[in-house]
Amino acid sequence: MRSSILVVLTIFSLNAFAQLPEIDWDELSKTQPWAVTELYKDVPKVTPGEGASAPSDAVVLFDGKDLSMWQKAQFGSPVNMEGFEAMIPLIDPNFKGDAAEWTVKKGELEVKPGTGSIATKKAFGDVQLHVEWLAPVMPADKKGQAGGNSGVIFMGMYEVQVLNSYENPTYSNGQAASIYKQHIPLANASKAPENWQEYDIIFMAPKFSEKGTLVSPAKVTVIHNGVLVQNNVELLGPTCFIGTPYYIAHPEKLPIMLQDHSDKMRFRNIWVREL
Ligand code: MG
Repeated sequence: MRSSILVVLTIFSLNAFAQLPEIDWDELSKTQPWAVTELYKDVPKVTPGEGASAPSDAVVLFDGKDLSMWQKAQFGSPVNMEGFEAMIPLIDPNFKGDAAEWTVKKGELEVKPGTGSIATKKAFGDVQLHVEWLAPVMPADKKGQAGGNSGVIFMGMYEVQVLNSYENPTYSNGQAASIYKQHIPLANASKAPENWQEYDIIFMAPKFSEKGTLVSPAKVTVIHNGVLVQNNVELLGPTCFIGTPYYIAHPEKLPIMLQDHSDKMRFRNIWVREL
């Protein structure tokens, strides 16, 4: 006991009186060795958005006016890997689909249940995405996954869940800001229905070799209403409702999809920056 106190005191006193090496600034100024670690490179100038406006280099996907950046998705969401095996070889990154039928009113975009998920006309790979969404008050019998559901589905297959998770329990890896059935959010930062909520998402697409083997998995960071809820998590493969996912090689850029899950979820101020 006594010796351990002595050791602690000794370490403390050594630290307390340790001297940092003297720097001879006059001598160093002759060679200026600090310049070796100072880098100069053209850093792109981006004007930040003010209020609800997007940064100057963003692709604005919805600014409250129309659905000109969107169309009906080529495919809905497969429920299992058998579905992805069938879908992925048929995906066309330049697919020309029918006009999206969701409702635009009062500067907002509302899901029109039954018309299907919508997808961007443009294909994207690595992105920073901003989206604001709102869950309506649902009838009392609509609970859990039926209680105000949509999703931001990167590349048409990797879903960040959009769900009313304010006093609406469901499985943890299916709540708002989960990577659906893969990663539980670090916190539930949900606001009550009828409040606008924000997602800022960094999505890094999976990379495949020319032979189609996985080089690096998809990685996702999500900030929900200013709270970090997914911290660069690695995805196991496409979002599966049933079964265990795995990767199947696909094009490096594909459309971003918003999910029609039969609820009148609303969206506004959607923009994306390509990384
Ligand atoms: Mg969903």
